Amino acid sequence: MKPPRLAFLLALSVTRISAQPAPDPIIAVRAPVVVLTHARVIDGLGHAPLENQTVILSGGKIESIGADLKIPDGATVRDLTGKSVLPGLVMVHEHLFYSSLAGGPFHVNEMEFSFPRLYLAAGVTSARTTGSMEPYTDLEMKARIESGTSFGPKLHLTAPYFDGAGTGIPQLHAVASPAAATRMVNYWADEGFTSIKVYVNLPADIMAATITAAHARGLQVTGHIGKVSYREAAGLGIDNLEHGFMAMSDLIPGRKPGDPSNALNTYRSLEALDPDTPEINGLIALLISQHVTLTSTLAIFETFTPGRRVASKAELDTLAPPLRESYLTRWAAINLQNSKTSRDAFARDMQLEARFFRAGGLLVAGTDPTGYGGCLAGYGNWRAIELLVEAGLTPLEAIEVATHNGAKLLKIDAQTGSLEAGKAADLIIVNGDPSRNISDLRKAEIVFKDGVGYDSQKLFESVKGLVGIQ
Ligand SMILES: [Zn+2]
Repeated sequence: MKPPRLAFLLALSVTRISAQPAPDPIIAVRAPVVVLTHARVIDGLGHAPLENQTVILSGGKIESIGADLKIPDGATVRDLTGKSVLPGLVMVHEHLFYSSLAGGPFHVNEMEFSFPRLYLAAGVTSARTTGSMEPYTDLEMKARIESGTSFGPKLHLTAPYFDGAGTGIPQLHAVASPAAATRMVNYWADEGFTSIKVYVNLPADIMAATITAAHARGLQVTGHIGKVSYREAAGLGIDNLEHGFMAMSDLIPGRKPGDPSNALNTYRSLEALDPDTPEINGLIALLISQHVTLTSTLAIFETFTPGRRVASKAELDTLAPPLRESYLTRWAAINLQNSKTSRDAFARDMQLEARFFRAGGLLVAGTDPTGYGGCLAGYGNWRAIELLVEAGLTPLEAIEVATHNGAKLLKIDAQTGSLEAGKAADLIIVNGDPSRNISDLRKAEIVFKDGVGYDSQKLFESVKGLVGIQ
């Protein structure tokens, strides 16, 4: 055994060595000019794919896309015959933590090593974190990714949750008053966070102060709410609501403003909902008229729904063994219990999300890798998009939701989220055609971020067995 002090110094020196930018086999393409030939281009804007295109990447940007482009001398050329390129994903209910359950109260561990790699592996080039548990680790990872010393997507960080009294999660902080909310918004804004998330137990007066303070600092506010209804939150000026309609307390029979959050009663109200009732269509119209963006997180809700998929072998292999066991045990219990309410609420939410989208609402997508596990960074992003297609969107629409729409919400659509000349070279090479079969997203080969190409498979392999630990 080494004395502890020596081990500490050794750890420090290892950190220094790995901080040097060294060639890494995960980096598949790094060249001043990269040309992709014979590509099927899916632009992320919903247009029909263009076949046999040439895409020129230069200086980290998309220089041009066209059918008959001259290949610059000295360019690195990749023939994409039979393959597709689409924008890097911009997904907006992500986290850098994962539920690590051992029988006690709900608990998460920060996944600062595995999750950024998994996101990038699946093609996520921009991610909003939508609620922080270790804010300074999140800030540090954003800095490391930006400096090129860690692999991961461009991060748009959400501050620690703003929950109210009665929170059942020891890692969350209950904001005590409107004044406290204002103070905390300003604190986290100063630290570098660009959005705030209000949570299920936050009452309306503190939510109002949070939104006012955030908007004064140019920060957006999103919410996984419950004590406050969707209609009330829209009236307070919230920018974004999470989880589709699965957190909507508006239609709980007999509900009065300020009643405690109750997820089961929300699911029951969805189960009982007549989808043609004027109340739901009125709410959808209100959200759209107030420019409230809705985040679809179907992949996490699927894990709570009986009769649905179990995690794939690749996902199970990515989990640390104790997390694999707790996931499979809980998955089996949910399927044995076979709750009709869970099944019906999930189906109703899919229907309403599609309706919101068809009515012209800004629908965006995220994974929310929480719950009891089973919805992982990376793999879960693909699943979230597949489920949008099951909900009734076309593959091209689902891709638009997970790329351009996310960029619109984050107000980065002038820089990324679609394949257009002048935008960042954030794109995914897929060995297939996700415009026809959305699951071809799973055939991602190389993910470009700012013009550097990362090997998807090697990124996935680099974190095998680590989710739940690091
Ligand atoms: Zn979340």
